[in-house]
Amino acid sequence: MRITDMNITPIAITDPPLLNAAGLHAPYALRIIVELVADDNSYGLGEVPGSIETEQALAAVREVVIGKDPFQLNAIEAGIRERFSEETSAARGEAPWDQRRLVHVLSGVEVACFDLMGKATGRPVVDLLGGKARDRVPFSAYLFFKHEGAGGELGFGTDPNATGWAAARQKAALDPAGVVAQAQAMCAEFGFQSIKLKGGAFEPNVEVEAMLALREAFGPDVPLRLDPNAIWKVETAIEAGKRLEGVLEYYEDPVRGQENMAQVAQAVNIPLATNMCTTSFGDIPGSVRLNSEAIILSDHHFWGGLRSSLGLSRICQTFGRGLSMHSNSHVGISLAAMAHLAAATPNLTYACDTHYPWQSEEVIVGGRFQFEEGSLVISDEPGLGIELDRAALAKLHEQYEAAGLERRNDEIEMQKVQPGWKFQAVRW
Ligand SMILES: [Mg+2]
Repeated sequence: MRITDMNITPIAITDPPLLNAAGLHAPYALRIIVELVADDNSYGLGEVPGSIETEQALAAVREVVIGKDPFQLNAIEAGIRERFSEETSAARGEAPWDQRRLVHVLSGVEVACFDLMGKATGRPVVDLLGGKARDRVPFSAYLFFKHEGAGGELGFGTDPNATGWAAARQKAALDPAGVVAQAQAMCAEFGFQSIKLKGGAFEPNVEVEAMLALREAFGPDVPLRLDPNAIWKVETAIEAGKRLEGVLEYYEDPVRGQENMAQVAQAVNIPLATNMCTTSFGDIPGSVRLNSEAIILSDHHFWGGLRSSLGLSRICQTFGRGLSMHSNSHVGISLAAMAHLAAATPNLTYACDTHYPWQSEEVIVGGRFQFEEGSLVISDEPGLGIELDRAALAKLHEQYEAAGLERRNDEIEMQKVQPGWKFQAVRW
């Protein structure tokens, strides 16, 4: 089997005005769809966060990938790595999302190869990763402080004809009561049984109050998580953490850097989790030495693919770390890959993050994935179990062209609402 073509399609998907430590989500989130075509006319799909830099990096490895056998992942990875100098974790940047190129390229190509391998063998990707450790993969309700608005063409406007979650998704959530209402609407629609709040947007006290309000509304049986995206000082994180002992399932990146995380971990009786302080294999020795966090959030886009993520899971097992899964705004190709990976990872025992409820568009045939009681049931169809809706892809590519966004920049979006607003790596 040989790869005969590689199509790289940037798309823009509607995204509501969600707040976070880096500012405000733009009306559109960017993704890149990778399609590998094989000599038997089958195709495999991958999806990664979009930026002009990642698109160019993917284009730069086309000639490495074309002509390769998709089963020969070691050869493909070696060929790709030759094109890049090694990117240290410093290259991920200070923003909550990861800006390295190599990990994204490896991930987009590898997932598409797995999809091709699955189609060639008639087996789902989960079987190529060791088989199902679980049939259903639970996801968590991912809450945001947000402005009124639907995103996309509507921006801060709302669609008066929307109903159900689509209507609830447009509502502002700027205080604890708004967050609770959002959680109730999202859980009613999707059946999620764990809840995460993206913090770092307001004064720490407001965010602690929001968590306490969620606990009050949902009771002790619904696990709660808070993620201030490393924007708090150590003293702030300890003070807030003390108020949230017995309330949080885990406390995600309250502070920046492993040393600071280790200080908070010592002082607060809540497991600390990270997708910002320990983000690559090179960070693992520091994490182990400092005991900086109890749980690592995997993300196959940031750890360089599905096999790397399974490698991370073994490291977590070895060092007694828990494993959860991180997410960014995405469509169904990423969701399918996340679900197959999670199903094949025995020690991934936490509900995975997903931004999927905040999106409304799709690039796969049949439209949006349906959750059952907050979980996805893993398909036994070959590969990722999805087909590309080429008309939908073309439309979202046109939307990308029209949006004129080259990369994610939440600071610029925030400045449209609050002139002069500046991102600060540590704010409170
Ligand atoms: Mg996080």
